[in-house]
Amino acid sequence: MKSAVYLKPGQVGLVEIDRPQIEDPQDAIIRIVRTCVCGSDLWRYRDDQMEFGTRNSGHEAIGIVEEVGVAITTVQPGDFVIAPFTHGCGECDACRAGFDGTCDRHIGNNWSGGVQAEYIRFHFANWALVKIPGQPSDYSEGMLKSLLSLADVMPTGYHAARVADVKPGDKVVVIGDGAVGQCAVIAAKMRGASQIVMMSRHADRQALAREFGATAVVAERGEAGIAKVRELLGGGADAALECVGTEASIDQALGVLHNGGRIGFVGVPHYANHALGSTFAQNITIGGGAASVTTYDKQVLLKAVLDGDINPGKVFTSSYSLEDINQAYQDMDQRKSIKAMLVLE
Ligand SMILES: [Zn+2]
Ligand SMILES: [Zn+2]
Repeated sequence: MKSAVYLKPGQVGLVEIDRPQIEDPQDAIIRIVRTCVCGSDLWRYRDDQMEFGTRNSGHEAIGIVEEVGVAITTVQPGDFVIAPFTHGCGECDACRAGFDGTCDRHIGNNWSGGVQAEYIRFHFANWALVKIPGQPSDYSEGMLKSLLSLADVMPTGYHAARVADVKPGDKVVVIGDGAVGQCAVIAAKMRGASQIVMMSRHADRQALAREFGATAVVAERGEAGIAKVRELLGGGADAALECVGTEASIDQALGVLHNGGRIGFVGVPHYANHALGSTFAQNITIGGGAASVTTYDKQVLLKAVLDGDINPGKVFTSSYSLEDINQAYQDMDQRKSIKAMLVLE
């Protein structure tokens, strides 16, 4: 089967590898129907230490169950499913507390990888997979995009709002105008925020954020950005949703909150440890980590998408065949595309 690999910094291409096999009773093999490039894949793509032939870090897909292990009772071959980047067992304390993105049964990092390919092996499939009614042909391309967003970016945006405990009437600031930040705007609105400020310098992303429910946009950064947000809100925000993963974005989040405010961070951290004690004087509550994809999809997000209440698939602003994967990465890297979808037939 075809699978993407990193060829050299800034270049990705396809190679022929063996189709994955069932290795554990809890595995399923899934034929990919739609997958995509994630903002987090760009870190690997740009890495100048990267070795030739490194497996792709793609981790988001919808597809058809091809084969199941003997312990699988919830799905069967032919079923249409969301393949989350997370693999919760559904039974441990973490999963039952609604933190299946960091399942207690994980050994090290158990998230998906290598999903920019024709097939994947999906572990903990019995609980973690999310069944979609019907077949791909029953849905419009726009709906397929929204279903694909449920493998990562929409639940991740929702996670930021959930761990920051966004409540009706809250003033919320979203830091990061990529796909996750855009979905965090949707989530803040779903949870009843009265004001949602998106920090963004790009016209296309500002427009999408407004369509998703942002009530204001701030283009300034650093101290100027913080001052602008405080002026708009008439004080500090109740919650800051950090969807970038840099030290500057954490500082931005801390700067826009009133004392006693809350941060939900979902940007994969690319900074040295931020000293926890630094938030003492502000009484900031901080939560964050890998999203509880299966929990949110099953509880709220799949229904919201199928009912047409939310349309997170709009973050996919371009589509490519798997053969054109290098172009997909390039367009995201150069910010020509907010999020690039890969279409497999
Ligand atoms: Zn992702
Ligand atoms: Zn678990």
